[in-house]
Amino acid sequence: MSASRLPAGAEIIEDTVVPPCAPWSAKVRQGEHLRLIDLEGQQAIDFLCFNAANPAERYHAANTIKIPCQLYLNAGSVLRSSLARPMMTIMEDSCGDHDTIFGCCSFEVDEVRYGATNAESCQRNFERELAKHDIGPEHIVSNVNFFMNVPVKPDGHTAITESQSKAGDFVDLRAEMDVLAVLSNCPEALNDATGDGPTPVRAIVYRPGG
Ligand SMILES: [Zn+2]
Repeated sequence: MSASRLPAGAEIIEDTVVPPCAPWSAKVRQGEHLRLIDLEGQQAIDFLCFNAANPAERYHAANTIKIPCQLYLNAGSVLRSSLARPMMTIMEDSCGDHDTIFGCCSFEVDEVRYGATNAESCQRNFERELAKHDIGPEHIVSNVNFFMNVPVKPDGHTAITESQSKAGDFVDLRAEMDVLAVLSNCPEALNDATGDGPTPVRAIVYRPGG
């Protein structure tokens, strides 16, 4: 299925190309969908969501992992909140095995692991974008990394490795409550999170037809 081909009768609410290294956010109402497209491939999208009515309830990585006992996100996976409630369900996924454990890049962690930083960071993107919604940095928690490949070996060793995502790969999420969706189009150029370097992604909010 082509990434740009939405279901018949779909009504597009917002369709945005997010430039490399930039953040983006939108309210997605219950029953609406958010489609995230990796336009050129191998581009990590750092993603968080919040209960639009009460941002204190937010995406919770451990609850998302422990209920299905599954570390990776695929079609059928449910993003769970800090209250263990379903926030968003992955309805379609052309890539698979999205990361739940590595969180986002920041100037501080890159300085420690690489002795260098990028011009931007996902942590700062989240801070800036959430500030638009009066949500403070204390609400930034361990996030989803769509299109980022972090295999875990039997001995527990793990690392960011080359992304499996190809140009046009997408995930399609259905909101199970009214959410504020926030992403950082990852600026990380010091590891494999962005392939050969940061590239644009596309975010489409739509109401399914029928
Ligand atoms: Zn990043």
